[in-house]
Formats: sequence, C-alpha cells, structure tokens
Amino acid sequence: MQILVVEDDPSISEPLVSGLRREGFEVIHAPDGASALAAGAVDLVLLDLGLPDIDGREVCRRLRADSAVPIIVVTAAGDELDRVMLLEWGADDYVVKPFGFRELLARVRAVLRRVNQSTAPAGALRRLGALNLDTRTRHVDYLGEEVALTPKEFDLLAFLLDDAEAVVTRDEIMRSVWDEHWWGSTKTLDVHIASLRKKLAPELIETVRGVGFRVVDPAGPK
Ligand code: CA
Repeated sequence: MQILVVEDDPSISEPLVSGLRREGFEVIHAPDGASALAAGAVDLVLLDLGLPDIDGREVCRRLRADSAVPIIVVTAAGDELDRVMLLEWGADDYVVKPFGFRELLARVRAVLRRVNQSTAPAGALRRLGALNLDTRTRHVDYLGEEVALTPKEFDLLAFLLDDAEAVVTRDEIMRSVWDEHWWGSTKTLDVHIASLRKKLAPELIETVRGVGFRVVDPAGPK
C-alpha cells in the first residue's frame, strides 16, 4: 500500500512519514502541491490544505479529477470546513491538527477498508496446497502458520498465485507488481523472490532459467 503524504511542515511530515513506514506502508512525501500532482498513482493521499504553492482544495479537486484515489484532508484547527464542502472537493475524510498518530492511522485503515470492500473481486482468496493468500485482508498463511510479508512481497506472491504453476516472465512481473514507470534494477525482483522463499519454502517458487518464475505446490504431484 502506497501513501502520498502532502505536507510542507517537516515537524509534521517527518514523524508522520516514519510512523506510516513503521506500519508497513510505502510512503511518498510531497512538500507542496506541484509535487503532489506529479507523484503518480498511489493507494491513498493525506493532504494538508495549507500548502506553499497551490491551495490544498485545488490540489484535492485536481487529484480527484484524475483518479478515484481515497483522499484524507488534514486541516489546521479553526479552518472553516464542513463535510459537504469536503465531499464536493472529493475528499473521503478529514483530520484536524494537531492529531494523534494512532487516530490518523485508524482513519487511514478505515478509508482503505471502505474502498477495498467496494472494489474487492469476489475471488479474493488464492490457495495452493498448504498456502493461502487473501487479497482482501492481505493475510497469508502457510502450513497453518501466519506469514508476515512486506507489501511488495505480498503483491508479488499474489501475482504469482493468480495463475499458479504457470510460468510468469520477469517483464510481466515487473510491469504488474512494480509498475510501467519502474526504471530501477530488476535485482529488486530477485531480492523479493529470495525473501519469499526464505519466509515460505525454498521449493515453492521455481526459477525458470532465462524466462521467469512460477509457484508450485511443494507437496503436490510432480
Ligand atoms: Ca501547511
């Protein structure tokens, strides 16, 4: 899950960004409206209304014009606000400064839950032998034990399990799990594969030399 934090005040953005990272989110920080609008697709936006360049309301409206991304507005105490106005700008919720991190986190989770419920495909559960993965709750268990994965490890495993036992090329994986704008090394894919093998079972993900990978049930028929 990727969160865009739009906040010009480092005394707010710094603890917020590190707190969210600790909770397992990937965080992009935008210190002004222009960089927020240039940030690209994310799963949720935390948007300060008082920005140095573009008014936060305008940023909200433009983000909403481009996508259905959930937006939580962060307002200074005393801002004239009502819920109807916020909805008109396209915001999903708001918090008032100063806010507690736990409160904000609860709002973030609630908004993400709401959005995911309305868009979750019926087949959120993927199963391969003793491996279960639920894309709705982002829960993975293997041999009856819950396995803690990072968001990218989870996305990678979910993608491989979409068509278990089929060979998936490195290109297909990079395009779908990272994104088409990924310019970094595909080494990052190998690192994630290695980590999944370590957390689950080494024989669960097969390397198909020169092509890509596939997931197989280690206990299944050969
Ligand atoms: Ca501000």
